[in-house]
Amino acid sequence: MSENLATQHAIHLETIRSNALSIRQRVGVDVIGVVKADAYGCGMRRVVEAIDDIVSGWYVLHPREAIEARLSEVSSKPVIAGAPLDEDVDELVRHRIRPAVWTVDMLRRFERSEPVLAIDTGMQRFACPASMLDSMIKAHRFDEAFTHAARREQVDLFRQLAGNRFRRLHAAGSALMDDPACRFNAVRPGIALYRSAVTIITPLVEVRDGSGPVGYSGFESSRHGIILRGFSHGLRVGPCFVNGKTQRIVEVGMQSAYVTLDKNDQLGDQVELLGKNVSLESIAGEWKCSEQVALTTMNRVGFIE
Ligand SMILES: *Cc1c(COP(=O)(O)O)cnc(C)c1O
Repeated sequence: MSENLATQHAIHLETIRSNALSIRQRVGVDVIGVVKADAYGCGMRRVVEAIDDIVSGWYVLHPREAIEARLSEVSSKPVIAGAPLDEDVDELVRHRIRPAVWTVDMLRRFERSEPVLAIDTGMQRFACPASMLDSMIKAHRFDEAFTHAARREQVDLFRQLAGNRFRRLHAAGSALMDDPACRFNAVRPGIALYRSAVTIITPLVEVRDGSGPVGYSGFESSRHGIILRGFSHGLRVGPCFVNGKTQRIVEVGMQSAYVTLDKNDQLGDQVELLGKNVSLESIAGEWKCSEQVALTTMNRVGFIE
């Protein structure tokens, strides 16, 4: 695609860095950088390089995410992998990956790779139920345990279940880390690292003064523009920003979308789909989804050809 029709997608690593620094200052405990799903679509390797000196380690879901990104080449910090389902223990050791384990079988398989105990406090997946905890602790001296908590009550249950049986504990992602009672020895932010760190801009490839019903849905338009991003890229109806003004993506087709415009907006003008003027929060609000869904989706809108 020629340069002037291309969608521009910028990942601001300096913003991710300042997010990480401000989290660490605010919470006063270790920060484990959550870089699963290619750092929510921002690029695992470059995020790791950008904040390696700020964090104490990393979290991914599958060990192969860290292996494929060759994370151990750019960071010497340990990586917790939340779902080591079919990996080879030697490979984990080689890549400094500490697998989360939650059954005695897993523990036996991964004992040589410093496993971390995942404790279930309500998520009911990838973690050890309270009833099995004593048998896990009897089978191995774990130095570290964590839970994936969505609510404060789950953190309270975690505190009670863990007691003083571990050297290092963590429970909070972005939503709970500002509550001091949820911090323990570390926090595991994902989305909080990436807020305000992505800009996606795409040009108007057509501009029309509307007459009569427009598009598939027959919406009213005094003036509208077309962009070359559609639902095949993940785009949905929502906010955008053109020439200093908030506008709307009013209708989305397979590979293009309609944007409301002002009378002075012209062919080739840039439409901001995410950035300083269009926040993840505002997109998530319109889409009725989490900021995590909004970010991973918008990163596909930006990257897919
Ligand atoms: C994804 C994830 C996080 C980070 O979640 P955010 O809400 O994006 O901060 C933390 N811990 C675990 C175990 C996760 O899977």
